[in-house]
Amino acid sequence: MEAKSQLLNLKPYQPGKPIEEVKREYGLDKIVKLASNENPYGSSPSVKDAIVSEAAHLGLYPDGYSAELREELSEFLGVKKGNLIFGNGSDEVVQILSRSFLHEGTNTVMAANTFPQYKHNAVIEGAEVREVPLLNGEHDLNEMLKAIDGQTKIVWLCSPNNPTGHYIDQKSFETFMAEVPPHVLVVSDEAYYEYVEAEDFPETITYLDRYPNLVILRTFSKAYGLAALRIGYGIGDEKLITAIEPAREPFNTSRIAQAAARAAIKDQDFISTCSERNREGLQQFYDFCQKRGLVYYPSQANFILIDFKEDSNLLFQHLLERGYIVRSGSALGFPTSLRITIGDKQQNGEIIEHLENYLLVSGNTEKETV
Ligand SMILES: *Cc1c(COP(=O)(O)O)cnc(C)c1O
Repeated sequence: MEAKSQLLNLKPYQPGKPIEEVKREYGLDKIVKLASNENPYGSSPSVKDAIVSEAAHLGLYPDGYSAELREELSEFLGVKKGNLIFGNGSDEVVQILSRSFLHEGTNTVMAANTFPQYKHNAVIEGAEVREVPLLNGEHDLNEMLKAIDGQTKIVWLCSPNNPTGHYIDQKSFETFMAEVPPHVLVVSDEAYYEYVEAEDFPETITYLDRYPNLVILRTFSKAYGLAALRIGYGIGDEKLITAIEPAREPFNTSRIAQAAARAAIKDQDFISTCSERNREGLQQFYDFCQKRGLVYYPSQANFILIDFKEDSNLLFQHLLERGYIVRSGSALGFPTSLRITIGDKQQNGEIIEHLENYLLVSGNTEKETV
């Protein structure tokens, strides 16, 4: 028996270290996990009630079409019901799009480095992956355009980009969309949309009428705080959504997830409070970086990539042993950086203190050896 040869070169997704494992390994009671861009404030309190009510119906299959959530979300977003496709996380929408468009002989264009699942799924489908290096943490849209040819099926834009936090501004997006040939699908992955504060961030939904080759991805995993329930969605032209629906598993989103998402959308106060606190948290890290002369990318998301000019695995380990799980940049293409999820004020303060101590000690050693 032989699996597809392309699987040989792939590793399963490496998630942030699980809390329980770190507790056991280092004999710690308290763990702060700021590694997977989860919401440190959880989710809206109304979500729990919705889940409890839905728990009465666990014997029933979910509505694969998500009719009620679809109705409410389409109203909230100002799109038609037929513009939406739901996934078991937006990860699954990435998979559905890849299954629908990519195969041997085709290619797909993306930034390097960006969210790894675009490449992962493309490799599984046997498509050629064309990676265009970031320019100062930003998508190099001109080079991405040049990488497109007659066999290109999908171009992935990640905005704000994971792991840099940079976004594609409205003017750049408009120019790009005007130049992308119509046979190419443009996917704008906006997993951190709710955190964005930049005024020139494009409202990509308003471009759907003009560009039937545009799909927008959003999720309930990040600002909405429902990562455990696995629910995200794509927004696109009705014809395109209808065409890819058969590639979706029949019962891909659970009853619980649908009920939780419906409750979550209704509590926009929770979202605005979280994004405001996120801004304040980002400022804590900006202040720290400025004080220490560290290079960082200004972020429109709920994480920050900081360059410590040291082996990121050592820094990662230093924090881990003290009960703070972050993301080492080595796995993300930034071997001297850490990607830190913005936590609450206290968590940010604690982690900054540990980083200060680390820098102080490593600074002292340098002086002693001189
Ligand atoms: C977290 C993340 C996702 C996946 O989110 P799920 O909806 O939980 O699958 C997609 N894209 C980017 C850029 C992300 O950071």
